[in-house]
Order: sequence, then C-alpha cells, then structure tokens
Amino acid sequence: MLAGPGDIVGALTAVGVVQSEAQAAADAAARVLTGQGEVHTVVDLLPNGPVATLLRLQAAYADGSGAVVQRNASGAFAGTKVAAVLSRQVKVLRGELDTESFYSSAVAAGVRDTLIPEFINAFGYDFNLAADIHPGDTFEVAYEQEVNSSGEPVGQPQLLFASLTTAEKSLALYRFVAPGGEVGWYDGNGGSTKRGMMRTPVDGARITSNFGMRFHPVLHYTRLHAGVDFGVPVGTPVYAAAAGVVIGAHPTGCGGNMAVVQHDNGWVTRYFHLSHFAPGLHEGERVPQGFTLGLSGVTGTCTTGPHLHYELRINGEPVDPMSVPMNDKEKKKLEGAVLQAFIAQRNRVDVARAQQAS
Ligand SMILES: [Zn+2]
Repeated sequence: MLAGPGDIVGALTAVGVVQSEAQAAADAAARVLTGQGEVHTVVDLLPNGPVATLLRLQAAYADGSGAVVQRNASGAFAGTKVAAVLSRQVKVLRGELDTESFYSSAVAAGVRDTLIPEFINAFGYDFNLAADIHPGDTFEVAYEQEVNSSGEPVGQPQLLFASLTTAEKSLALYRFVAPGGEVGWYDGNGGSTKRGMMRTPVDGARITSNFGMRFHPVLHYTRLHAGVDFGVPVGTPVYAAAAGVVIGAHPTGCGGNMAVVQHDNGWVTRYFHLSHFAPGLHEGERVPQGFTLGLSGVTGTCTTGPHLHYELRINGEPVDPMSVPMNDKEKKKLEGAVLQAFIAQRNRVDVARAQQAS
C-alpha cells in the first residue's frame, strides 16, 4: 500500500493492528525515514482474533530506500535504515595493446572478460582484431554497471561504447537498441557498422593463412590459396557474412563440409571444413547476415588442423575478403526520433567519458 510517512499509523490500523502498536511502529520507522515522498509499506501480520499482531513493517521510497521495523530483543519496535537498492553507473576504461593479444590487454586495463566478446563483435565489420592491431594501439570502453549503496558492482556489466585507434584508423562505436529490440553498434552520427559483408565470419578469429600464392602443406605444391584461414577451435559458430541464399551445403573431398551462400549483390561466400551444418540447412534457404551456418571443424583431406577456410568470389573469381572494399552505401543510418534517442544515449556516454578522462 502507498502512504505518506505520516499515514503509516492509518495503514496499519486499517489491517487490524491496534492503535498503540501501530503508533509505536510508525514512530520507529519515522526515526530512520529521511527521504521525501510517499512510502510503499509491506507488513507481515500474525492474525490474532479480531486484531493482528505486527511482526514486521517495511516502508520504502520509490528508489528502494527506507526502513524496516521489527521487534528487538526486549519486544519494542526498532527501525533499521535500508539504502537505495541499486543505481546505474557508466564506467570508462582505457588501455593500450600489449604484445600478447587484445584479450590480455583488455583484462590488464581492468575490462571484465565477459565484455570482451561483444567488443570484438562490435568491430567485426571494420577490424580484424587478430591482424589489424599492434602493440601500442589504444582502446577505450564504457560500460554500465549496477552498483549497490556501497558502490559494489551487482550483476553483469553492459558494454555501451568501444573505441579502437591504430596507426591506420580510428573508430568509436556506441551500442544502441533500436525499436524492435535489435542491438547494433553505431558511429557517433548514428551510422550502423553493419554493411555489405562481415570481414570475419567467426568470433575470436586469428588468421593462420592469408589469401595468395603459397606452398600447400598437404598437397605439396605452390598454388593460389583462394581464401583466408581463421584458426578457431572446433565447434566455433560460423556466420553468413551477409544475407543471402544458401546454394550449397554438402561434403567435399578436400574442403570437407562446405556451405556456400550467394548474396544479394551476386557475391558468393564459401565456408569449409565445418564439423556440422546448422540443423536443416538446405539449398534455397534464405539466411540473414550473421546466421549460424554451422560449426567450424577439421573435416576434409586438405586440412592440417582445426580452422575455417573462408572464400569470397566476385563474378566467379576468388578475391581476398580481407582487402576487398566493402560497400559503404549499404551502411544504415538512424533517422528521425530514433536518431534523437540514439543521440541522447551517445551524450550520456560521452558525459561519463569526459568526466572520467585520464
Ligand atoms: Zn585455407
């Protein structure tokens, strides 16, 4: 029930607590209630004939702060102050790439390891975090964390902002949940990172062999390596690099289990050595960007270890998916009221970044 602090007596007598007990409990609550506004009261009662014995009274303001009143050892009511339940804080961390990996650099900067996969995903369209970053490059993250009244973190943090600056390029991205619930990453002007094609169709990828001429370790002659090899553990989800139609999903000799997707612009991507296809994956199936086509593996006779061999073909010709220009015209940009909501979110993050400037 809702009541002003002065109405607690009335609220208690209304549920059968005798006047003197109600007054004593309300007085105990009033001694620790220091906030403003209505309080929400919750009572534990022991029915006792026509009246009720009050066991416990909780009186809380909207933010959860307030008082809990119980009987002490001598039977008198005593109030205990209760702090506001939780508040949200935006925390900012900055760091520099070490010689090991982005992961170890981020952990060294104090980034919770649970935030790192989303950071990597945010940059999946623009950076290959295994190939494009070098010691001395810098990064920044801002994340939201619920904290209790003592400032201790409660629950999981949520990444809100990520930036990466290398010798070649710099990119700052904001997380935003669009109407309809789709989570995306956007530049400061509300331009989506999503575009024609993901450069890296697996998470946590490390390039183990680039596109180009090479001496093949199994076939033992020099030939074009027509794709890029990403070293990933068996069972890593393999994503459709862009929306399209599945035009192949079957075993091959050398390449093992292969999935092939034809995209709307005519480009074709091929994914090899899969341990499993997605259940029911079939030719003619329409898949969205990021759809899990299957799991990486080590199938086929031409592989020396677990990896994804990934190919991109334009007009039937293999091209290097790491270097082909991506079509920026396909970048989506937020507009109208949605853009305004994004800007409000961006500004909230930027205020925290400025306040916590190093
Ligand atoms: Zn390969």
